[in-house]
Amino acid sequence: MARFSCDSNTNPGAARTFNFAAGPAMLPPEVLRQVREELPYGQRGGMSVLELPFTGREFREIAAAAQRELSELLGVPAHYRILFMHGGASAQFAAVPLNLAGPVDKADYIETGHWASRALREAERYCEARVAASGAAGGFTRVPSQDEWRLGADAAYCHITTNETANGLEYHWTPDTGGVPLVADMSSNFLSGPIDVNRYGLIYAAAQKNIGTAGLAVVIVRADLLGRRQCAAPSILNYSMQAVSDSRYNTPPVFAVYVAGLVFDWLKRQGGLAEMARINRRKSARLYAAIDHSGGFYRCPAAPADRSRMNVCFTLADNRLEAEFLRQAEEQGLLNLKGHGAVGGIRASLYNAMPEEGVAALTDFMQHFAASYG
Ligand SMILES: *Cc1c(COP(=O)(O)O)cnc(C)c1O
Repeated sequence: MARFSCDSNTNPGAARTFNFAAGPAMLPPEVLRQVREELPYGQRGGMSVLELPFTGREFREIAAAAQRELSELLGVPAHYRILFMHGGASAQFAAVPLNLAGPVDKADYIETGHWASRALREAERYCEARVAASGAAGGFTRVPSQDEWRLGADAAYCHITTNETANGLEYHWTPDTGGVPLVADMSSNFLSGPIDVNRYGLIYAAAQKNIGTAGLAVVIVRADLLGRRQCAAPSILNYSMQAVSDSRYNTPPVFAVYVAGLVFDWLKRQGGLAEMARINRRKSARLYAAIDHSGGFYRCPAAPADRSRMNVCFTLADNRLEAEFLRQAEEQGLLNLKGHGAVGGIRASLYNAMPEEGVAALTDFMQHFAASYG
């Protein structure tokens, strides 16, 4: 039987496990329970959400409610549109240049790590993507400050990655790009705290990190950016066409939209994004303190000012102990702590659904392990 990082109700008799995966990541147990109860028969005892025609009233209500909840949670101003799109964040790597720039147009990219580089490489296929700042020379251990950026006033947009999932870096400030629209990949810190949507031209996030399940990307786009390049983008990646058809240009990822709505609702019940920010700060501070106070046994390469609250990446001073660390952690029910393949080391993802007890269990284990091998 599969073991879930869930309560004893779901998994009777099993020891509690915590899933630190970067994505798809753990969901709130309450949401999983709701899915289990509602999925076969729907919310009102009719059909399952998986069986509803996507053009029908019931699914349209589910999607509209999810949009409404998200809009309230984040404070999305009226002149922005919320789109539910296919293809995760990687589809947006292409959709952004295809909708906002032409083949000879310029776009500025801030290269902060693995995912910013992936966004940049994809954009290079569709426009003249320029690296306006890069942390590559330093091994992506800090976010270049804005006075190091070389932004062009001629850029169609400036693209940032607000949280580098593989490198453990996060912006704790919002860049000022003047009249150039700021485009942000927020896949791994979306809804981890309040943001001022007005500072952005476009925000996108894959759902499987901090929203719900894979297959969905949420896009929040300022209305005046719609239709910049009407014909260039394939229809399912075309923001204008998706906006006009209310994200039903073709069959939407209905299950992912449904789960996203449940998670938005759950976030509201937790006290909203200001409360989530407080909890997330507390969780990550606890883990960073355990690393910093380990007498050098554990090390965090990220500059303290730019450390991610969502993906805490660290190494063991003696990296030969890494496999043993991961093995013993798993034995203790602390799962999926292996770092991203491109970076290595250890990574603990602490998204909204990770409870404080999970972080406490991890820091207890880390202290115990360091005492045994230090
Ligand atoms: C996971 C991730 C992606 C890729 O998401 P897909 O849905 O797999 O395409 C892109 N950017 C960031 C910041 C991510 O964390």
